[in-house]
Amino acid sequence: MTTLIQNGLVVTATGTLHANVVVDGEKITAVVDRSAPVPQADKIIDATGKYVLPGGIDVHTHMEMPFGGTSSADTFETGTRAAAWGGTTTIVDFAVQAKGTGLLATLDKWHAKADGNCSVDYGFHMIVSDVNETTLKEMDACIAAGVNSFKMFMAYPGVFYATDGEILLAMQKAAASGGTVMMHAENGIAIDQLVAQAIAAGRTDPVHHGLTRPPELEGEATSRAITLAKVANCPLYIVHLSAAQALAAVAEARDTGQNVFAETCPQYLYLSIDDLARPDFEGSKFVCSPPLRPASHQASLWAGLRTNDLSVVSTDHCPFCFKDQKELGRGDFSKIPNGMPGVEHRMDLLHQGVVSGHLTLPRWVEVCSTTPARMFGLYPRKGVIAAGSDADIVIYDPAAAQTLSAATHHMNVDYSAYEGMPITGKVVTVLSRGRLVIDGETYVGSTGHGQFLDRGLNQYLV
Ligand SMILES: [Zn+2]
Repeated sequence: MTTLIQNGLVVTATGTLHANVVVDGEKITAVVDRSAPVPQADKIIDATGKYVLPGGIDVHTHMEMPFGGTSSADTFETGTRAAAWGGTTTIVDFAVQAKGTGLLATLDKWHAKADGNCSVDYGFHMIVSDVNETTLKEMDACIAAGVNSFKMFMAYPGVFYATDGEILLAMQKAAASGGTVMMHAENGIAIDQLVAQAIAAGRTDPVHHGLTRPPELEGEATSRAITLAKVANCPLYIVHLSAAQALAAVAEARDTGQNVFAETCPQYLYLSIDDLARPDFEGSKFVCSPPLRPASHQASLWAGLRTNDLSVVSTDHCPFCFKDQKELGRGDFSKIPNGMPGVEHRMDLLHQGVVSGHLTLPRWVEVCSTTPARMFGLYPRKGVIAAGSDADIVIYDPAAAQTLSAATHHMNVDYSAYEGMPITGKVVTVLSRGRLVIDGETYVGSTGHGQFLDRGLNQYLV
């Protein structure tokens, strides 16, 4: 069964091309300039006036993740379906090692959650929260099992927190094995003191979540992570970078040639601490870590995306419902589950960056699809429209208008962080490995179509 996507503008990280795209089975078999004879196909999709993009790749999601006595509200089933609606055809989620358990047992557990439940393809990173001899040995087995990126935390003492010594050991191991260490860079030890002071003084509203996690403590932790990575000679990927201070540290390291990379997320580009300060506990909807920053940081982040000091946009999708979940922190902001929904809106929100002149069209595709694929060992199977690649294809109408709202989104969460926000552009068709998943206003995919991706190593390393 062959499909021809006709008359669209193919957008890749390197440019745009008026071309017809041929899909045979699960693969793209040809990208043919429109001046050439039109290839024959069993089925034709007309993409006149539309962009034809490689499917979005969101390398930072947390489906059904345990946190603070509750679990993020999207399952792999609902979360990957919502991702597809928004033009994301691959997610890389985090398997979470609980203290006292092994990495391989953890991986088995996450496979059990995801296998047979996903609408689009998925991979895993491993969260390392218990560094010991067994863990370090198991890192090699994880790499053999297609999981070669290991996330560690300088935040959350007593939960995920790792000491500098533990981080160094894991970095040495990753460096020797070809893995990449991903870092949540906030100084959790200092933050916990500020949180305790705030609670003791009765400053319990959601805005204090932001005020007790100042950007300086993200900058400091980012610098420290970079230094540890330099000593260990380990590739480092800073997750969800939110602060100008942290970006400056990343830029400096990159300028010296160190293998340091960073991602940011749409919430840091569009929302601010003013949202955390919304009255009547509404601010809890915007509690995530690192926290939303003063709006003055946003210009730095957009600039970082242009200069490639920020090379990926992911979502850190980790939704908790306002009712019953965010509400756990009424009267004590430190008990509000950390996380925001977003997996469905990343492609749209970053297209908005194209509309407003922050990004070029190819750069949009690069930060949302191509670089994530290369960073996490999926390229050229994913992240490009080219013969031989998986037919993960999004047809995007750049002229469509839509308004983001909980009333119309598909994520399993009772609010939108972007309620009422007008967006120019909309996904109209999504294919995952050649199979139609979104057809206009209809989901036509199937739970279980999504396959586990055995990923290769980071492709930016030489
Ligand atoms: Zn995260």
